[in-house]
Amino acid sequence: MGREQRVAILGATGAVGAELLTLLEERSFPLASLKLLASPRSAGTYLTFKGERIPVEPVSETAFRGVDWVLASAGATVSKTWAKAVVEAGAVMVDNSSAFRMDPEVPLVVPEVNPQDALRHQGIIANPNCTTILMCVVIYPLHKRIPIRRVVAATYQSASGAGARAMQELRDQSRAYLEGKPLEPRVFPYPIAFNLFPHNSPLQENGYCQEEMKMVNESRKIMGSPNLRLTATCVRVPLMRAHAEALNLEFEQPFPVEQARQILAEAPGVVLLEDWQQNRFPMPIDVSGKDDVAVGRIRQDISEPKALELWLCGDQIRKGAALNAIQIVELLSVPQPVTA
Ligand code: NAP
Repeated sequence: MGREQRVAILGATGAVGAELLTLLEERSFPLASLKLLASPRSAGTYLTFKGERIPVEPVSETAFRGVDWVLASAGATVSKTWAKAVVEAGAVMVDNSSAFRMDPEVPLVVPEVNPQDALRHQGIIANPNCTTILMCVVIYPLHKRIPIRRVVAATYQSASGAGARAMQELRDQSRAYLEGKPLEPRVFPYPIAFNLFPHNSPLQENGYCQEEMKMVNESRKIMGSPNLRLTATCVRVPLMRAHAEALNLEFEQPFPVEQARQILAEAPGVVLLEDWQQNRFPMPIDVSGKDDVAVGRIRQDISEPKALELWLCGDQIRKGAALNAIQIVELLSVPQPVTA
């Protein structure tokens, strides 16, 4: 076990912050100290960690002193505001926001895909977009065997992807809907309970929304494939937790289904969940609170000999955010088992 690490969570009171706390409790992470930071709104509140009440401090210039790692999950503006102070304090920021993801100087890391990139950090490591992480964990092992030429993705994304207030909105609206009361959107632009809508991130000039373009640009950077062709339609669905994705993958050559199934059954961070007799494949409830991305319904695309269809579900707060961030810290601070 390596030296114990001093960790601060910036955004500790949020959805990702809560998951970071859960994971630091669950994993045998060598923790020397833990500091909880949020906005001045949370000053005076406490969170419980390993049975101990820890005060939430408002983030400040001096908050990062004596810290090795800052796990940032307070949005892009907050990360940009405090990144310099983090680095000057000698800490490393693992940032869940989009602030630095496409900065060529900042590694964008999924440990199962490009762990080597983490080594070239200069104080900031970006954690990719949640939908992109879940997809890359599944498609990269296939891409390594036979390069992917084109991905067509459709996503089904839970309310929690938009944070703790969006989760509360889904709860409140569901109750209101069942009681026949009007639904009052506050976080999302439209009712989320008993409804769905194309992803609410800002639309770009090319007609895609920001979430869709994150999938395009970030997966190219993570997989080191700048020419990867990818098109996506992202959709918000009335789920509390975990995202699902339908992927059509076109390869340079035909990819035998059984070979793909075997590769995915052995891939790190992936679990194969297929019961063709029962028509039973991954569902969000299978993966909520779980580390692995579940994949199934792997089949030959009947319209294109070089393409496969598959379906995945993953907990986007966990593997899509908090777990991926902690794995990055572990990668750099905890001695890794020697592989042959
Ligand atoms: P959230 O539930 O809304 O939590 C936001 C956190 O940021 C809260 O702790 C909040 O503290 C803190 N915060 C807000 N403004 C602040 C400020 N000015 N200074 C300091 N702290 C401030 O959001 P989330 O879902 O956890 O997401 C956090 C980040 O992770 C976002 O960048 C998001 O894009 C990214 N992310 C989220 C997911 C997901 O599934 N939710 C997945 C991947 C990445 P207060 O309670 O004091 O306001």
